[in-house]
Amino acid sequence: MKRKYIVGNWKMHKTLSEARNDFKHFSELTNSLSTADFAISAPAVFLSELGRAGPSKVKVLAQNCHWDSKGAFTGEISALMLRELNIKGSLVAHSERRQMNGETNLSAAKRVSALLTQGLEAIYCVGETLEERESGKLKDVLSKQIEIGLSLVDRTCAAQLLTIAYEPVWAIGTGKSASVNDANEAHSFIRLLLAETLGTSISSSVRILYGGSVNKQNVGEYLKASHIDGALVGGASLDPQGFAELCQLSLK
Ligand code: PEP
Repeated sequence: MKRKYIVGNWKMHKTLSEARNDFKHFSELTNSLSTADFAISAPAVFLSELGRAGPSKVKVLAQNCHWDSKGAFTGEISALMLRELNIKGSLVAHSERRQMNGETNLSAAKRVSALLTQGLEAIYCVGETLEERESGKLKDVLSKQIEIGLSLVDRTCAAQLLTIAYEPVWAIGTGKSASVNDANEAHSFIRLLLAETLGTSISSSVRILYGGSVNKQNVGEYLKASHIDGALVGGASLDPQGFAELCQLSLK
């Protein structure tokens, strides 16, 4: 069985002093939880400080990463820059970035590949809109996201460094979560797609996280499902005490 993996996505929240304190507090509270992996995906301006924050089992991740190592890309950051700051990886193509920053499956492919090539982890986010689900396009959307988004991936790196986050767009930050059955079915389908794209051995080792209004009440049920290996948590990751309790509950 794969180790559970819980990732908090702070989005564009907190000041530097809050980020520093909350990261420290969350690290202390989860220090004894040794059977799962935890990470915080923080705003870019906090990465330098958090990457140097004392010994912590909690990984620090970015929320975005460009595919080139340097160049005229105002506002972007590279995998090389992240690695130098002791940042362990990044989210890629979160639905908010797909919707608001024009990210596509093809740009995701380049970002995922750049991270893996630098030995960093990529958490590649996929998921359908409500309209796509209701018009029966779920499988079609997921197939394209996985096929194209992972088309440039080096298989050897992917086995160690790739994570998928299935996040139905209509469930993010809305308080509406997918039923455990629906989420589990989507994860099982993604696992098949991974096998077709990267081979069965890699497919069985890649963790697939569920994201979309995960909270303390529902995390246990999601994580009991056979194809759900962890969670990507937005709103409920902002309070360190509450998020640590959520992590504890995910292990039961
Ligand atoms: C997210 O940020 O990826 C997310 C799933 O947010 P929330 O948990 O608030 O729905």
